[in-house]
Amino acid sequence: MLHNISETALTPEYSGMIKPIESCVHCGFCLPTCPTYSTMGDEMNSPRGRIFLIKETLEGRMDPSEIEPFIDNCLGCLACVSSCPSGVEYGELITPYRAWSESTRERSFTEKLQRFALLKTIPHPSRFRAASKIAHFFKPIARHLPKGFGAMIELAPEELPPKHEFKDHYPAIGPQRGQVALLIGCAQQALAPRINAAAIRVLTRNGIEVVIPKSQGCCGSLAMHIGESKEACRAARKNFDAFPTDVDAIITTAAGCGSGMKEYTHLFAGQDIEEQIQANAFSSKVMDICEYLDQIGFIPPKTNDSAEIKVAYHDACHLAHAQKIRSAPRSLLQSVTGITLLEPAEWEICCGSAGSYNIEHPDTAKELGRRKVANLYDTGADIIATGNIGCLAQIEFHSKDKDTPIRVVHTVELLDEVDRKERC
Ligand code: SF4
Ligand code: SF4
Repeated sequence: MLHNISETALTPEYSGMIKPIESCVHCGFCLPTCPTYSTMGDEMNSPRGRIFLIKETLEGRMDPSEIEPFIDNCLGCLACVSSCPSGVEYGELITPYRAWSESTRERSFTEKLQRFALLKTIPHPSRFRAASKIAHFFKPIARHLPKGFGAMIELAPEELPPKHEFKDHYPAIGPQRGQVALLIGCAQQALAPRINAAAIRVLTRNGIEVVIPKSQGCCGSLAMHIGESKEACRAARKNFDAFPTDVDAIITTAAGCGSGMKEYTHLFAGQDIEEQIQANAFSSKVMDICEYLDQIGFIPPKTNDSAEIKVAYHDACHLAHAQKIRSAPRSLLQSVTGITLLEPAEWEICCGSAGSYNIEHPDTAKELGRRKVANLYDTGADIIATGNIGCLAQIEFHSKDKDTPIRVVHTVELLDEVDRKERC
């Protein structure tokens, strides 16, 4: 796309926004896969429309406040990246643009309070636990509260599993094939610690030693994707100090965290050179659990059970679109005797979870959640597998009104379960 954005008008950390604008040829191939274009039906709520609006704003022809609603509506799902034949890296535009515009944005008191509440609870497991308990008492009046707070309370789980204490080291079982450090995450630690427990069992049984750095913290993805780049940098720095650099990989079991940590390179672009080097080195080590297991040559559990398990696999956007990981989880699941993989319609369309999107835009998120659940249930699956805690919680939430809800698990849980069943 032709533009008149002066490179000198943008400080170095934002100059990367120019390339995606220049690469867009306005063809519109991305429109059918964009969930907001598909639900709202207007150009300004499409990837092509947003690229144009950002261009106009960076050229000084529009005020950032004029395009706020369209930018806010974007889920950051990056389905547009997967479908773009010109290779437009939309993520390299929307994330820095949100940070760029945030500094001048005027937010209402309620909006500020909601963002403060999000950033101060979700990344801290103990606060998240406490907030979930408090939310429980407000459930009966959730619909009378301001929309975002109401959604936060509505989505809060009825109860949380017991706290799980992870050790800082798990030795490999059998001949050692590698060593990894595991990010245990923040919200996931409170919502489903069983996922990392399963990941540790699968990794160690595959000959991988697992270390869990005690001083690790939130990956910063939530802050990064809502334009709070300083907060995201603080979280990243904490992890630079916490994680060892001499491991084979830094593993995550949450697609949102993995894609955020792989983006540290962009987060620190134009900043202190030492930190850029540190960010590049860290990002290059980050791998999703399925990506890693597939790469090392996963040893599937031996099973004599011939019973068929029909598994519908849901592609988390931050795994499929942001990290381009689609075949690894499928090949791991298909390596297990008895598992039949089913593919739901509209795999590329987001489930509506998208970080904090289901809190900030509950109506669109609900519509997408119901649509995703309908597509998954139409497969006739026994189990739904996915690679992200946000998707897992969203699918479970919108399955509540089903007569016979289908169990939703992380891919690695299923790999672990088949193995444990055999050992029993
Ligand atoms: S498909 Fe790519 S090049 Fe075409 S309009 Fe969308 S972002 Fe632009
Ligand atoms: S990131 Fe998702 S919602 Fe945003 S423009 Fe791209 S496809 Fe649409």
